[in-house]
Amino acid sequence: MPLEPRADAAQRQIVQAACPHDCPDTCAMQVTVERQGARRVAVRIAGDPDHPPTGGVLCTKVSRYLERTYHADRVLTPLRRVGKKGAGEFEAVSWELALEEIGARLREIAARDPQSIVPYSYAGTMGLVQGEAMAQRFFNKLGASRLDRTICSSAGAEALRFTLGGRLGMDLEQFANSRQIIFWGANAVVSNLHLWSRAQQAKRHGARLIAIDPYRSLTAQHCHEHIAPLPGTDGALALGIMHVLIREGWLDRDYIERYTLGFDALAERALRYDPQRVASICGVAAGSIERLAHDYWHVRPTAIRLNYGMQRAHGGGNAVRAIACLPALAGHWREAAGGLLLSSSDAFEVDQHALTRPDLLGARTPRTINMSAIGEALGAARPPIEALIVYNSNPVAVAPQAAQVAQGFARKDLFTVVLEHFLTDTADYADLVLPATTQLEHLDVHKSYGHLYIVANNPAIEPQGQCLSNSEIFRRLARAMGYTEECFQETDEQIAAKAFVRCGASPYDWEAVRRAGWQRLDVPQAYAPFAQGNFPTPSGRCEFFSARLAQMGLDPVPEFIAPYEGPTSTPELAQRYPLALISPPARNFLNSTFVNVQSLRAAEGEPWLDIHPQDAAERAIGHGELVEVFNDRGSFRLRARVSDAARRGVVVALSIWWKKLTADGKNANEVTHQHLTDLGGGASFYDCLVQVRVVVRPGAARV
Ligand code: SF4
Repeated sequence: MPLEPRADAAQRQIVQAACPHDCPDTCAMQVTVERQGARRVAVRIAGDPDHPPTGGVLCTKVSRYLERTYHADRVLTPLRRVGKKGAGEFEAVSWELALEEIGARLREIAARDPQSIVPYSYAGTMGLVQGEAMAQRFFNKLGASRLDRTICSSAGAEALRFTLGGRLGMDLEQFANSRQIIFWGANAVVSNLHLWSRAQQAKRHGARLIAIDPYRSLTAQHCHEHIAPLPGTDGALALGIMHVLIREGWLDRDYIERYTLGFDALAERALRYDPQRVASICGVAAGSIERLAHDYWHVRPTAIRLNYGMQRAHGGGNAVRAIACLPALAGHWREAAGGLLLSSSDAFEVDQHALTRPDLLGARTPRTINMSAIGEALGAARPPIEALIVYNSNPVAVAPQAAQVAQGFARKDLFTVVLEHFLTDTADYADLVLPATTQLEHLDVHKSYGHLYIVANNPAIEPQGQCLSNSEIFRRLARAMGYTEECFQETDEQIAAKAFVRCGASPYDWEAVRRAGWQRLDVPQAYAPFAQGNFPTPSGRCEFFSARLAQMGLDPVPEFIAPYEGPTSTPELAQRYPLALISPPARNFLNSTFVNVQSLRAAEGEPWLDIHPQDAAERAIGHGELVEVFNDRGSFRLRARVSDAARRGVVVALSIWWKKLTADGKNANEVTHQHLTDLGGGASFYDCLVQVRVVVRPGAARV
């Protein structure tokens, strides 16, 4: 059915769209399109005022989406490498030639072992059509290696699965009614703007806001209280809060009795974490832990907005498990405005089978490559990785231990294809770059991990240059490989129409969603998912004790697991590298997206390192000086910002910069490592010890 945009004026139309980015808010957007001769030109982008979570407001980044779409540096034709890998030197080639060359190389490699071909993708778009539908069909038919997509959230997702039964939690819209909100590892001002606006509403009605974050983020600056534990110690903090709740009897015994499993085992564990012990682990005052527990029990309902930063450390999974036990202990789930939200993804019933067609694998069970250790895999995987197809991701900039990643991508015998909008750090290593459409140029449908609405994305303009959507590129690749299954003929509309099994309790009607732009899942307005238990765990209860973890040989009860790198785990390393580095998102970037949008990069200025005044003084570092952050894995340079926003012992490099857009061609991932989290095999970016020194240029006077 043709698009039926809303008529706004004779020459203008408003098209309903969805923000595609890796952000819990999944905004509904309205794109104003003007007809200019034969072209449709997008002239304005705004939040849909009628979509309750969006409320007419887009963040600073996506407000600049037109600058990104019409950027002079867009890749508009297929490109073939002519220079050395990494140099970013290409010539334009036709689609026909590019697809022919890719088909020939993939067929040759697949004849030896299709597992030597590896897809690499993440959340460059969160769309169910342009994300993993046609792409997965292609790789399933091929029998390529599977990719374990762990780089962001897998520790937390697994923790929720073992504790609550899935990625479920509070409704964003209910935070406005909370009496107290704890932002735990969550910089909502930057990464969850529309929840922050609910928190502001709650604050105006007298709610108390607390931030738990090693960094005094923009969110922490606007909370009533800020508690700054050392990175990777959140699990101990949660056990300390539990200790006080249990010691004082601040427990909803009725809720625990009816709806939870394993209270005695959890209590025994928590009683080992008295506030004094926890204070020494976390580097916070014991009194803060006592007060936090007191307020957690007495102020009702309390909501916890947990975010993924705190699970990017060795014990990240157990930390999320510990925190996810708190609302059940205190009974906060009883009210819609109480409980916890890390992700609402599993509220949506996505039809993964219809989208990705795992049946195309037949009896084959290919190996799995963990994306968080791609540097290691490119060097050591057997059979070796001979071809990488990268889409919706920029691993050379975002994957940990960047030097090893770049070394792998530079391998002469590796065949690399990158689907992209721009020549990113990763595209520079490609043998072939295929020009992909942006969100304004293709069709898609989205779920959200931060609210309860399905959001449609109607194409607003024609594809720029020779760009094709991801789905169309994989359709054509399938043809180049000689695949004839009907699923490779499906249109984007047909894929979107089968994306969901249902819409909450109601049927899913794609046509209705695309016309309206969005649709709330059919769940109660005052959605309180666990008010009467109903946890989708095997026991139907909130599992403080997990028999599934026990069967896997893992600790069945949440425990504090110390960071890989820290004074207790690696004392010798901690002497040489005494500072903990974290690299959370910069306000104007979204992972590595938007770094090449001039206005946004200008707003960030240059890479900065926040360092506490005492840590700076001990190293004779002055504000604004060029410093080098280093450890045994590598180094990178940035400018020091001496500020107590960074707590003592912690340095903060807001990220993720494109390496090629920094002065030294490096970013924070030069020093991060590829060790995996306790649950979910996730990346542990924020479990990283470093040292910092001033860069003294020969002959230059110190500032
Ligand atoms: S990045 Fe997030 S806040 Fe910004 S427009 Fe997209 S969904 Fe909305």
